Amino acid sequence: MRLPDGFLSYCNEWEEKIGAFIEFAPPSADNSGAAGSSGALPGSGALAGLPFAVKDNIAVKGFSLTCGSKLLEHFRSPYTATAVRKLQDAGALVIGKTNLDEFGMGSSTDNSALKKTSNPWDTRRVPGGSSGGSAAAVAAGIVPFALGTDTGGSVREPAAFCGVVGLKPTYGAVSRFGLVAYASSLECAGVLSDTVARCRAVFSVMRGRDPMDETTLDPPPDAPSLSDGPLEKGNAASGKGVIGVLSPEAVARALSGGGDLDAAARAAVLEDEVRRGFLTACERFSGLGYTLIDVDIPGLKYGVPAYYTIATAEASANLARFDSVRYGARPEKAENAGELVDRAREEGFGAEVKLRILLGTFVLRSGFQDRYYLRAQRIRAGIKGSFEAILGGANPLCGAVLMPVFPTRAFGRGPGSLSAFAQKAADLYTCCANLAGLPALSFPASVEGGLPVGVQLLGRAFAEGTLLDIAEDYENRHPFPHPPGYRAFWR
Ligand code: GLN
Repeated sequence: MRLPDGFLSYCNEWEEKIGAFIEFAPPSADNSGAAGSSGALPGSGALAGLPFAVKDNIAVKGFSLTCGSKLLEHFRSPYTATAVRKLQDAGALVIGKTNLDEFGMGSSTDNSALKKTSNPWDTRRVPGGSSGGSAAAVAAGIVPFALGTDTGGSVREPAAFCGVVGLKPTYGAVSRFGLVAYASSLECAGVLSDTVARCRAVFSVMRGRDPMDETTLDPPPDAPSLSDGPLEKGNAASGKGVIGVLSPEAVARALSGGGDLDAAARAAVLEDEVRRGFLTACERFSGLGYTLIDVDIPGLKYGVPAYYTIATAEASANLARFDSVRYGARPEKAENAGELVDRAREEGFGAEVKLRILLGTFVLRSGFQDRYYLRAQRIRAGIKGSFEAILGGANPLCGAVLMPVFPTRAFGRGPGSLSAFAQKAADLYTCCANLAGLPALSFPASVEGGLPVGVQLLGRAFAEGTLLDIAEDYENRHPFPHPPGYRAFWR
């Protein structure tokens, strides 16, 4: 692969400012793209010759796989995730591993134990998380696309903060083989990209059944096609579909349930700029010929407690494998095996990870499962049911639901930051798609006060094609913004 002139110095300048990468290894003259290559012949499709970045909790042979953790700081992956391998087989090239909140736990990337990543729009602000390094690298134009993982919003929220496209696919549409598990029943490998067309091209290659992951499925025969965009399909003119809108008023109703707002609900209220961006998106969709109808998601308010109950329960089981016996940082001294494991975890895991392991262990305690875990599963079923009633069945009300992604734009550090509690409460809009297993696509609606505002479209299972069509229609009329200093190197 030949890099465009000036590309490497462009990358270095940005990287110094934003710190998106844990490992950056673009091909040089004497190493023309060998890193991470699966040995297959490069494809000739839309991805051939494109560089991409991979969140550092997804395995790429020969590259780091730190998960943003001290425990895995020096670990290198002996194998490659299926999703990555498919992209390599299509001719795309991994040029680095990106920073993240430790094991994907967070919304700012500040929970990384290894470095800080900043938002290319304003380096005093966070890029979002947990796939913050991937989002920042795409927003800065270092790569045209990157992979992330989304367990409760970790692709869509950083996409919104950085003004890029972020797709969380249908659960099971993309293989999780090679993803370091955080909460297995919720998480998906997702795409962050500069344009909707790119997201479409990447997702088409990544998806499909994988014998290495028994939860994967091929798309059903009646799934909306991915092959071409809205213009080619000829539905860019009049008579478009119906979009269900979860309006700020509907959100307020769901949050208050008629009464006063509690602290969690207050943290989920949209800030003025986000509200403005959301209303701009609604107006623009009307202007494009879509019919907008109001929808309600009654169980919305309970999504966050259910999400954190299920996610931490699964995390407490998944992270039990990190004992530093076969791999991972070893404590200097230990008298016996038990002490070795205890010390490795004490020294290796950060505070947020410990908190979640404890919370997960708590909700799974014998005798208490009914009170927490099983109730969370019932809420999960209820939220799934609400979306299915709107989007599914023989007579769906609409083709997609338009929702906010996050109540704030990219937040700052220090006093202007969001508390850990507020960050969790703010996962309300993103965690629904994970609880329901449905696809959701975040894209920049507008720029408000110098920062991008994202919105998301949720669809029925395997309807990624519909979401991409609607977002591409929007993008064709209202091209996505870029941060100052951005240069487009990749077609
Ligand atoms: N903010 C959420 C959390 O902290 C999302 C994480 C994710 O999707 N990996 O759990």
